[in-house]
Amino acid sequence: MMGAMPADLLLRNVRCRTHPAPVDIAVAAGAISAVGPALAIDAVQTLDGEGGLALPGFVNAHQHLDKTCIGDALRPPRWPGWAGMWEVNRRHRETYTVDEIVDRASGVVEQALRHGTTRMRAFADVEAVAGTTGARALVALRERWAGEVEVQVAVFPQDLLYADPGGERRFEEAMEAGADVVGGLPAGEATDERMRAHVDFCLDLARRRDADVHMLCDDSDDPAQRSLEYLAHRTIEAGWEGRVTVSHAGALAAYDEPHARLVVGLVAEAGISVCTNPQISLLLHGRDDRGAIRRGTTRVGDLLDAGVNVLAGQDDVDDPYYPLGRADQLEVASFVAHTCQLAWPDELETVMDMVTVNAARAMRTADGYGLEPGDRADIVVVPVADVRSAVAEQPPRRFVISHGRLVCEARVERTRYPRA
Ligand SMILES: [Zn+2]
Repeated sequence: MMGAMPADLLLRNVRCRTHPAPVDIAVAAGAISAVGPALAIDAVQTLDGEGGLALPGFVNAHQHLDKTCIGDALRPPRWPGWAGMWEVNRRHRETYTVDEIVDRASGVVEQALRHGTTRMRAFADVEAVAGTTGARALVALRERWAGEVEVQVAVFPQDLLYADPGGERRFEEAMEAGADVVGGLPAGEATDERMRAHVDFCLDLARRRDADVHMLCDDSDDPAQRSLEYLAHRTIEAGWEGRVTVSHAGALAAYDEPHARLVVGLVAEAGISVCTNPQISLLLHGRDDRGAIRRGTTRVGDLLDAGVNVLAGQDDVDDPYYPLGRADQLEVASFVAHTCQLAWPDELETVMDMVTVNAARAMRTADGYGLEPGDRADIVVVPVADVRSAVAEQPPRRFVISHGRLVCEARVERTRYPRA
């Protein structure tokens, strides 16, 4: 493609998944204006991609940002059990404030941006101890990062909706404070009746506020957990198809085959996106198994085969549930490849979709997402030639461009000293 319109930014000599030969990408007014070999375009800033792989900015649709980076002070010396993690989480919320959360969470957003993530869905605990502090903080964080990282704020009932009085009211207030997405944790409720009330309330709140839903469903190895199935039924009844994402769905992996097929079919019919978070699932699940050790992640292969939109997110960084993490969607992709056994070339293309376009679809931000003219210029250049090398090597990102502006670059200097 030739053109004379000057560009703000010209990214020369990159490979794309859809263009095997190197191309140039021109950016004007924050959007991609042209893609093609050797573009004859003047630009204010020109970058040499050196044949690296250009991808649209990574999308991480599952990240806890209020409880992130809590540091060693709050971390027990060894695995504290589920109740122990809950206690650490609760004690942490006794002291946190809006400003402190925004500063602490910004460290992870910065880390994610350096790794090329330009869109993120962030969860805020909303419960009796801290009330709406986390939600108000992440709304402020969203405004602080607007124009670099697009943040959606999801309200999340970490301590359930019906364990303490006032859960529904706190959720209403958190949405009123500017949150975007209604979260949920239905399987944790004490009875099946409460689990169903939890799903019903969240769907009703989402419809009243014209909001999307993102629930953490059946985050367990326990095949008795059935909230995903109920949510899928209710999503269809409510006409909310395409607006619901679930994360984890570990119990689905533990169902017997006939029941699993039924639920996978329902999820597909309900247009529910499924987000797997492999690092955290690997660390937390399968702990009671002896012999055949389960991996904790959901039935990614079966869901993909059924046409379900499956994505992968980081979930946690340095918090009670996961002491590790570096907010790198290529690391997440590598975990998916390993745990879900999707490591051969066509499968790796699917894995790359799970941290890019599938995640954007779940966040319903896929309009203008990609590397075609007209798309918002969120581009990450990985200094490798292909998708396999990107997932295998996870090198520092050569360039990260967000909203048309170069925001980060990194170059690794390596010197090899051969024997004389
Ligand atoms: Zn989570």
